[in-house]
Amino acid sequence: MYTEKTIKHFRNPKFAGEIKDADAVGEVGNMKCGDVMKMFLKVEDGVIKDIKFQTYGCIAAIASSDAMCELALGKTLDDALKITFKEVIKQLDDLPQIKFHCSVLGTAALKKAIENYKKKVSD
Ligand SMILES: [Zn+2]
Repeated sequence: MYTEKTIKHFRNPKFAGEIKDADAVGEVGNMKCGDVMKMFLKVEDGVIKDIKFQTYGCIAAIASSDAMCELALGKTLDDALKITFKEVIKQLDDLPQIKFHCSVLGTAALKKAIENYKKKVSD
């Protein structure tokens, strides 16, 4: 059902964890399979310098969070906002269609974290 790449991200997520002094945090959940995702960002000069996630969820949710962090690291906040779940799926080679909502969660959590960061900075 899952591609080799998806399994690899799931078994060995490089970005799993927490950033204690994160500049921004975004949290989202999905009711469909009970996934909850928290995204931590370190931002410097508008660029994502560090990114970590905590996910309580299915294989697809964890693998796509990890793949999304891989895509977002080193990007400017504005470029990171443009990451779509389709790019995340491409990063995993593919994802079963019934699991698309899990990859949407990753981009949603990132978006939320960036929004929170922008709010904080403009205060
Ligand atoms: Zn899921």
